[in-house]
Amino acid sequence: MALTETPTADIGRDFIRDIIQSDVESGRVTEVVTRFPPEPNGYLHIGHAKAICLSFGVAQEFGGRCHLRFDDTNPTKEEQEFIDAIKHDVHWLGFDWGKHLYHASDYFEQLYEWGEHLIREGKAYVDDTPPDEMRAKRGTLTEPGQNSPFRYRSVEESLDLFRRMRAGEFPNGARVLRAKIDMASPNMNMRDPVLYRILHAEHPRTGNAWCIYPTYDFAHGQSDAIEGITHSLCTLEFEDHRPLYDWLIENLPVPARPHQYEFARLNITYLVMSKRILTRLVQEGRVNGWDDPRMPTLAGLRRRGVPAAALRDFVRRGGITKSNSITDYAAFEFSIRELLNRTAPRRMAVLRPLKLVIENWPEGRTETLDAINNPEDASAGTRPITFGREIYIERDDFMENPPKKFFRLSPGREVRLRYGYFVTCREAVKNTAGEVVELRCTYDPATRGGNAPPDGRKVQATLHWVAAADAVAAEVRIYNHLFARPDPGADGDIMADLNPDSLEVLTGSLVEPALAAAPVGEAVQFERQGYFCSDPDSAPGRPVFNRTVGLRDTWAKVQANSGRG
Ligand code: ATP
Ligand code: MG
Repeated sequence: MALTETPTADIGRDFIRDIIQSDVESGRVTEVVTRFPPEPNGYLHIGHAKAICLSFGVAQEFGGRCHLRFDDTNPTKEEQEFIDAIKHDVHWLGFDWGKHLYHASDYFEQLYEWGEHLIREGKAYVDDTPPDEMRAKRGTLTEPGQNSPFRYRSVEESLDLFRRMRAGEFPNGARVLRAKIDMASPNMNMRDPVLYRILHAEHPRTGNAWCIYPTYDFAHGQSDAIEGITHSLCTLEFEDHRPLYDWLIENLPVPARPHQYEFARLNITYLVMSKRILTRLVQEGRVNGWDDPRMPTLAGLRRRGVPAAALRDFVRRGGITKSNSITDYAAFEFSIRELLNRTAPRRMAVLRPLKLVIENWPEGRTETLDAINNPEDASAGTRPITFGREIYIERDDFMENPPKKFFRLSPGREVRLRYGYFVTCREAVKNTAGEVVELRCTYDPATRGGNAPPDGRKVQATLHWVAAADAVAAEVRIYNHLFARPDPGADGDIMADLNPDSLEVLTGSLVEPALAAAPVGEAVQFERQGYFCSDPDSAPGRPVFNRTVGLRDTWAKVQANSGRG
């Protein structure tokens, strides 16, 4: 099956694309304009990737444009670091807003004027009710709310107070501006929602120019209208806010009429996508920052080695619907493997080395052999690798007393060293603790290149290896799920579900010399192990690798199926 190589290739249909198609055909819109509106209070995560691929993707497909708009209405939680990271991540994912970079804060003056407009029209009022009391009087899903006594305040008084709120005369929380809609509405969002609150806080962009800030609900639809957004795409939790957005648009002299369409969020087993929780993970030091490779952030996934194209492919396969569901983490791994299998060069690396000495190989002699860079891509060519008397193989590839179905090395058995020779294990040397520390073997010179000998003898296993002569020491970081259960937090304290074994650091690994200076972030396949990439922590002569994703291990499956754990 074809994979998404570029953001626009091979895209299926969904209800949103159908709506846009018919809007274009009917002439309701001439140019499709969408937007992605992150709040800069954290890093983007894989869920945002879905929203980005959708809004930027449809704009591209329909020859329109997509704006990047920072929803920067809450200065207490927003930071420049997050703004910079979000821009970097959207670009990395393969999308470009061109000159259409906006901020809700660009519209603060206009939004304020529209606040005054609603007051003058008798459709908004300044409310002095303390926050707790206001909450209590909002009612519940089954009970209507109660009208605030300030609802009947005169236009002049509200206008005067709103201006004095802006002028900084009142402390935080003293007053708010509320829309005058319907305290008995079955939709809680219509019960005189707050439009402006007092926040004496410095804003990353507007500094100290403002001490009142619009709520997201007040900024959102109006920002869309100002920018001429035709299709405002967001997740289902905003469905109940749409009547409020529509009410505001109908009651304000806005320059255009945006339409909002909601789709289901992306949820994935084992992953947490709440920025509140991700922020806690970082602040409480449970992970090593926002770009920790165990994090579901785009920065973390990038550092882990997940290519942007694999993320786009995964999101595309998931499709766009209106019903909430949870995607199996395995589907994400599938997209990563599909892509890397075709693109990642093969290399040999021994994660947990066991020494193998070839007794009939002359001391000091080495040979150069040819190794294929990518069996899926002939144009990737070959590379020279060194073979010699001392070789390291994976500790797991040897068993002194092998059970049935274990076909790798054991005393008396012959295996192929990939691209090298057939070797037969003669003896396992042990230390005083009884652990195997070295294998004494012989090789068959007639099997050079790993080819079957003239007598047609076959072996059941092919092992990867590195030569002691030129292997490079490396650190390898193996990542497992950050949370130990597929539904983190389902039983209460989410931090109690953290997986204590989410990071395993192997400091004694050995890799072939071609990996010594692997470019940071570039994917390689360690033969028989999985896909890896070099981490920014790498130092000259001391590479550090992250495991992006493992290969499916047939032996692990056999073990699991036979209950051997
Ligand atoms: P929080 O985690 O605090 O709920 P958020 O994820 O909604 O915040 P925003 O910065 O407001 O953070 O998100 C920007 C856009 O990304 C929103 O339009 C939202 O609909 C979309 N989005 C967020 N999470 C997902 C998700 N899991 N799947 C798809 N889209 C998402
Ligand atoms: Mg949000």
